[in-house]
Amino acid sequence: MIYEDYAIFTPGPVKMSEEILQVGAKQTPYFRNSAFSDVTFACEKGLLEMANAPEGSKVIFLTASGTAGMESAVMNLLNENDNALVVNGGGFGARFVDICATHSVPHTNFKIKNTNLTDIEKLAPNEDYTSLVVNAHETSVGHLYNLDAMGEYAVKGEMLFIVDAISMLVTDPLDMQRSNIDVVIVGSQKGLALPPGLTMVILSPKAINKLQNINSLYFNFKDYLANGERGQTPYTPAVTIMLQLEARLNQIKERGGVSQSIANAKEVAEYFRKSIKALPLKEYTPYMPNAMTALTPTDGRSAMDIVNALEENYKVMVCPNGGAERDIVFRVSHMGEMTKEYTDILINALHEYYGVARS
Ligand SMILES: *Cc1c(COP(=O)(O)O)cnc(C)c1O
Repeated sequence: MIYEDYAIFTPGPVKMSEEILQVGAKQTPYFRNSAFSDVTFACEKGLLEMANAPEGSKVIFLTASGTAGMESAVMNLLNENDNALVVNGGGFGARFVDICATHSVPHTNFKIKNTNLTDIEKLAPNEDYTSLVVNAHETSVGHLYNLDAMGEYAVKGEMLFIVDAISMLVTDPLDMQRSNIDVVIVGSQKGLALPPGLTMVILSPKAINKLQNINSLYFNFKDYLANGERGQTPYTPAVTIMLQLEARLNQIKERGGVSQSIANAKEVAEYFRKSIKALPLKEYTPYMPNAMTALTPTDGRSAMDIVNALEENYKVMVCPNGGAERDIVFRVSHMGEMTKEYTDILINALHEYYGVARS
């Protein structure tokens, strides 16, 4: 199989554990029965716990990639009478802007740089917004926003706070109740370290109340909620990934809970950043999550050349950026089945590539 013997540091899909891979190797079972309903209920309970969702929250399970979670959240919750403040700090923020434009949702393209929005109140345009939309971790540049500050701002302005947590859940703290978050979008192939194909939307009671009748069959959340009452989805779910999700949520629990997963990711990320200090690379942003490190070469080398050399000469996969940033930044994920020992493979490869002895 392609890349099977490579070390994986890409920000999705990420390295999966043996235990989860084994669940994926089994026959896919029939699912319109109570045995599978129990799986759905267990997944819902686990996700709600992990996000510290308020009482009465529900989870929508969609068989699609994370972008469908983003788009369907906007479709079901916002319309032409809304005014959304969409944080755009990179490619994924720009995607939310495109989604609002596609669905004729009035919005401000709130372009930001060099801030984690702790001072959002000062920075935001002085308009009446009904919704605040953000990717908690802007994965295109490895930038984490201050959800507490944004939540406070959203509460003051009585906005619906929609958070795409796809690339930070499990590795960085997220608390719906503390940060007053109404909607959380989750994807399978990032922090949850499952195969791509499943996206989940966590809805608080406030968001559930705001659900509208929409012009879509497959993405109609009301239909998902009705079926969810009996632990089912309207259409065939990604059955195997749901089984893997159930196993993964148990695994996280057995390993000490999500706080332990976050602590592990933080330890690995800090170890990596500390271990490459002698190399001509600098951190791209001061607001990096535990999930990822984004790096910029300081010696004039092209980031893309580094990515290619790691893949070709060391069988190590990191992630290049596209467009104008292809030479300026590359990304290293700490999500998934990561340890310091595993990260050493990359640290050693980088030192060898630069011809610098590891101190
Ligand atoms: C990966 C990612 C997504 C989803 O992308 P898909 O390719 O549709 O799965 C959405 N938001 C963020 C922040 C991401 O990192």
